[in-house]
Amino acid sequence: MKWHSLSKKVLSGGVIKRGEARALLESSDDELFEVLQASFDVRRHYFGRDVRLHVIRNAKSGNCSEDCGFCSQATTANSMIPRYTMQTVEEIVEGAREAHRLKAVRYCIVASGRTTPAEEIKLICEAVQQIKLKIPIMTCTSLGLIGPKEAEQLKRAGLDRYNHNLETSERFFPSVCTTHRYVDRLSTAKALKKAGLELCCGGIIGQGESLEDRIDLAFALRELKADSIPLNFLDPRTGSRFETCERIQPAEALRSLAMFRLVNPDHEIRVAGGREACLGAMQVLALFVADSMFTVGYLTTEGQGYQADIAMIQAAGFRVTDVTDVG
Ligand code: SF4
Repeated sequence: MKWHSLSKKVLSGGVIKRGEARALLESSDDELFEVLQASFDVRRHYFGRDVRLHVIRNAKSGNCSEDCGFCSQATTANSMIPRYTMQTVEEIVEGAREAHRLKAVRYCIVASGRTTPAEEIKLICEAVQQIKLKIPIMTCTSLGLIGPKEAEQLKRAGLDRYNHNLETSERFFPSVCTTHRYVDRLSTAKALKKAGLELCCGGIIGQGESLEDRIDLAFALRELKADSIPLNFLDPRTGSRFETCERIQPAEALRSLAMFRLVNPDHEIRVAGGREACLGAMQVLALFVADSMFTVGYLTTEGQGYQADIAMIQAAGFRVTDVTDVG
């Protein structure tokens, strides 16, 4: 396949078909740079050389009732992680101030759990209201499964975006989680869209799923019109159900990213958890595909550090997006 023909097709308004997505995932290491070039053509068209920085805040950690195999906060995990109840409004707002200082365009407040109780949703709403009043930064939350009423409540508080990942394909989902269903995730995603919130929705590559499962996920996100797609690469956490999975190879991770870009050309794509662990020295190449990344660290793991992130972005000729350019 001439990989350049795929970017030409996408940039002239065409859509990638399943067979083409499969071919991308099966391309050889010798073709990797051509595949990356094709996805970079699309990335550059929609996002230039900008990189949107996101900072994540683990506002409530551990003790989750769910059994997601990748997660060190799951009820089935026996991981050494911090466990604490919901932080205060002041602590959450202070985190937003620090994220803005680091030039993040978005601050994502995350709480562990299947759902979030009403009084904690109220607390998050208050934090969002204060952030919107005082700090020039876009907001996002990830509070588990929610319904239309809570989605509207968050929207009224001024929240910009909500994260709720599909995690994988519908077919593979029962191997990842048995305490809730794929369809529960889908209906939360739809409720968020309906409430007028931006939808951040992605998944995790390398949990033992097939290439078809990865393609299903990319196409499901296209159908959902997810505004933002975070792609994580499994970095098997000690004590989690997936602790014995092997990390995928850097080239495989990059091919997956490229496939998601070509299937979802104008959507924000974020290289998320597992960037450092799975891509290693090749992580800078992810910026030629993804237009966004987390900095500082993740929910329960450290990243390579803010200074190293900025140095990497600048060395590759990219530019950190200013918050005034977004929204
Ligand atoms: S991913 Fe979320 S719902 Fe699943 S176990 Fe972890 S904290 Fe709980």
